[in-house]
Amino acid sequence: MDNCIFCKIVNGEIPSRIIYEDEHVIAFHDINPIAPIHILLIPRLHISSFNDILPENKELMGHMAWVSKEIAKQNKIDEKGYRIVFNCGEHGGQEVYHLHAHILGGRLLGGLVKR
Ligand code: AMP
Ligand code: ZN
Repeated sequence: MDNCIFCKIVNGEIPSRIIYEDEHVIAFHDINPIAPIHILLIPRLHISSFNDILPENKELMGHMAWVSKEIAKQNKIDEKGYRIVFNCGEHGGQEVYHLHAHILGGRLLGGLVKR
């Protein structure tokens, strides 16, 4: 996708602090962290938002759930707990329209709001 900042990260056109990658997904540190651990997990495939997940993306979504859990473990936030967030659309506070999971932990996360 042209002009998609996360597609540019996938293509190596802009730098990011990648912590994990495989054939289907890439995980990197959020540039503006709101918790001691704040990692973004994205599919290599451009999917604009949660609303745009198709039946053929179900396996990919399961893979994202699995990788999120493994990343939480790797970053030692599994025991105390963490939060996986997908913001969708305007009311969900989505700013980047390339599907991403926020993996948040390392502090007590209050409420359900983003900031
Ligand atoms: P959302 O509001 O759910 O769309 O979240 C977008 C997230 O992407 C925000 O937490 C930003 O800090 C983060 N972000 C934007 N640009 C970059 C970038 N170039 N590298 C890493 N994280 C980014
Ligand atoms: Zn994209």
